[in-house]
Amino acid sequence: MMTESPTDPPIDTAGLDRWLRAFAAAIAENEELLTRLDSAIGDADHGANMARGMKAVVAKLDESPPAGPAALLKQAGMTLVSTVGGASGPLYGTFFLRMAQAVGDATELDEAALAEALRAGLEGIVARGKAAAGDKTMYDALAPAVDAMDAALGGEEIGGALRAAAEAAAQGRDATTEMEARKGRASYLGERSVGHQDPGATSAALLLSTAADTLP
Ligand code: ADP
Ligand code: MG
Repeated sequence: MMTESPTDPPIDTAGLDRWLRAFAAAIAENEELLTRLDSAIGDADHGANMARGMKAVVAKLDESPPAGPAALLKQAGMTLVSTVGGASGPLYGTFFLRMAQAVGDATELDEAALAEALRAGLEGIVARGKAAAGDKTMYDALAPAVDAMDAALGGEEIGGALRAAAEAAAQGRDATTEMEARKGRASYLGERSVGHQDPGATSAALLLSTAADTLP
């Protein structure tokens, strides 16, 4: 039986800082894509919303570097809630705030603690937005990723588990194209939302791909 590798370094505050900065950079790079996707089934502001929010998150990291994992995640969550007006601000904000709660006063996270925190973040998004599988939202990228992470627990090094999660998020993002939106602005379009990739699922896939790039 495989167990967690002793060479698998735990995730610390610096790792989470790298993740948030990489996510901010990926959002900035993909701002036009996110705007284009939201212009098809929403109000064309998802790129601007996420770019503004993540720019503020990075500015906060520079201004007042948090002392531990929970403080860092909490600061990011509060910043997103207060700087992003659209649906995605409170949803991503809640994701990071719930992650912070789950982390508690731990100074380092192993694979299981990270998986637990991601699960808590996902549950926060559900508590706030009431999305379920197939509603064509960020949930459809995040939930398969968290499931993939759980499935990989103990069987792989943390990098492998995060790559599996990122791959599941990308597949979940792609699957939103054929879904009919049942939550958020896109739901106003009914079946005319079919054939368009969901913007929030697209940014959520970036959240996982940057985690796989930076956390291990
Ligand atoms: P707004 O819809 O207010 O313009 P954004 O454009 O920033 O906000 O974000 C839109 C994204 O938010 C959607 O693509 C979808 O993935 C996500 N979303 C909207 N409503 C919900 C919800 N109730 N639960 C989960 N995700 C949602
Ligand atoms: Mg929008």
